Amino acid sequence: MNNSGRWLLRLITRTIRRYLVGTEQHWFFEQPPQGWAPLHIERTSLYLHVPFCRHFCPYCPYTKVPYCESLVEPYTRAALAEVDWWADAVGPTEITSVYIGGGTPTLALDSVSCVLMRVRERFHLTGDICIETNPADVDDETVRRLHDMGVELVSLGVESFQPENLAVIGRDYTPPVAERALALLAESNFSSVNADIMFALPRQTTINVIADLVQAVQLGADQLTTYPLFTFPYTTVGKYLRLTAVKMPNLRMRQAHYRAISSWCAENGFERVSVWGFKHGAVPRYSSVTRDGYIGIGPGAGSHLSDGFVLNTFDLNSWINATCDGRTAIALRMPFAGEMSGWWWLYWRFYDTRIPMDDLDVVLGNDAPKARQWLRVVEQAGLADRNGKLLELTESGAFWLHLAQNYFALNYVNTLWTQARREPWPQAVAI
Ligand code: SF4
Repeated sequence: MNNSGRWLLRLITRTIRRYLVGTEQHWFFEQPPQGWAPLHIERTSLYLHVPFCRHFCPYCPYTKVPYCESLVEPYTRAALAEVDWWADAVGPTEITSVYIGGGTPTLALDSVSCVLMRVRERFHLTGDICIETNPADVDDETVRRLHDMGVELVSLGVESFQPENLAVIGRDYTPPVAERALALLAESNFSSVNADIMFALPRQTTINVIADLVQAVQLGADQLTTYPLFTFPYTTVGKYLRLTAVKMPNLRMRQAHYRAISSWCAENGFERVSVWGFKHGAVPRYSSVTRDGYIGIGPGAGSHLSDGFVLNTFDLNSWINATCDGRTAIALRMPFAGEMSGWWWLYWRFYDTRIPMDDLDVVLGNDAPKARQWLRVVEQAGLADRNGKLLELTESGAFWLHLAQNYFALNYVNTLWTQARREPWPQAVAI
C-alpha cells in the first residue's frame, strides 16, 4: 500500500473509532502514574507467558528469548513475585480460566507447575487450565506432568503436516513428529485437544489445507484453530521483505481457503465457535483470546482490566528486576473512557461470530442504541442474521468483518509491540 493509501486508511480508522467510541477515548498507551494500582477484581482470567523458544520461527511476532536453562530459575522467581503483586493489589479474585502460552511453555514445565501452585494459593481458581504445546516437546513425560498440574485443554501448534509448508514457515520438526505428538495428546484423556493449522501460505493449495484438517481429525483433534499467516515488519521475514506495515496474505487465496475450511468443517460435524475456530461435540471450547478480562503474568504479557489495558515490559531482565524488587512490571497503560470497555466486548463477540443482543444494554450502557443501529446495518447488508436472541454472522459476514478487524487490530498491535520491543520502559505509544 502506498502513502496515500495508508493515509486514507488512517483517516477511515480515526473516523470510525471517533464515531463508535467517542472523542474522550485517548488512543495512546502511557507509563502508569506514580503509585498507580489496579482496582479490586472479583472475577477474571489469567494469562501466563513463558518466553522461551529453542528455535526461532522467522515469521513469529511474539515476545521470546532463546531457551537457556539458567534463565528458568530467575524467570520462575519473577513470575511468582508477579502473581503475589497482583494478588496483593486485586484481592482473592476468582480465576475463571488460566491460559498458558508463549514462547514454548513445554520447555519450562517445572516453572509452570510452581506458578500454578502459587495461583491456587493466592487466588480462587475455579476454571480450566489451557496450555500451548510444541510438537517437538510432547512425549509421555510431558503428558504426565500436564495431568499432574491439572491441565485440561491442550493445544498443539501443528501448523501443517506437509513438509513444504513447514519449511516455508521455518518450523523445525518433521510431519511424523507432529503426527506422533497429536496422536499421543488425543489418547491421553484431556478434556479437549486443539490443533492449530495454518492456511493461505505461499503456494499452498486448497486441497493441501483440507488434507491437513483431515489428518488432524484422524489423529484425534476435536478442535481446530485455523489461521492465515500475517507478517509483522519487525520479524525476521518482515525485515527481509523491508515491510513497513503488517503484510496480510493474498486476499483471493485467503478467501478460497477460508470457504473450503468452513464447508469441510460443516460437512464433518465441526461447529464454528469463532471466525477461525471449530469444535466437535460437547467438548469445552478452547480459546486463547476472547476472555472478557484477564491478568497477564510474564514479560510482554498484557492485562485487560475493567478500567483499561496494561502491558508489561517486553524485556526479560527488566521484567525480572522489577517483579523481584516488588515493583510492578507494567510499562504502559491505556485507560478506558466512556463505553470503551463495552465496545471491546463487542469486538470479541464479532470474533465469536455471535452477538447476544440482550446483553448490549448491560455492557454498552449509553452506547447500546448506537451499537444496535450499527448492527442493523450489518444485518441489512446480509452480513448477519437474527437467530432468536443472537445476531449471528453469515459466512461472508464472518470473513469480511474479520478482515476489517484484522486491518485495525493488527496495525495497532504492530505499532504497540514495535515500540515496546525497542525500549523496556517507553514513555508513550500512540496507536
Ligand atoms: S512461533 Fe512459537 S515456537 Fe516459533 S518462535 Fe514463535 S513462539 Fe517460538
